[in-house]
Amino acid sequence: MLMRDIGINVKSPEKECQDKNCPFHGRLSVRGQIFRGRVVKAYEKSAVIERELIRYVPKYERYLKKRSKMHAHNPPCIDAKPGDTVTIAECRPISKTKSFVIVEKVVEE
Ligand SMILES: [Zn+2]
Repeated sequence: MLMRDIGINVKSPEKECQDKNCPFHGRLSVRGQIFRGRVVKAYEKSAVIERELIRYVPKYERYLKKRSKMHAHNPPCIDAKPGDTVTIAECRPISKTKSFVIVEKVVEE
């Protein structure tokens, strides 16, 4: 099966899938922003990713921790599970809340 080069420097999944919304094996193209976050919930072909933003607030000379949750498409060949760290990339809107797709499962050393 043909494996597409998605234009981002990520490790390609080892498995193959038939998902048409998969950036590697389907027709989905990715562009725009790329984030890294942790999976907090995984459904069939969907996942909720939480990422932590740390911003410095000059007035208080302290760091502000912010969390944001976002929904992303979870292609069967990647199959991210809660607790996994993943890289997500922006794509066209797949559903009402999904306009990001998981492109890589990050293995932490
Ligand atoms: Zn795939």
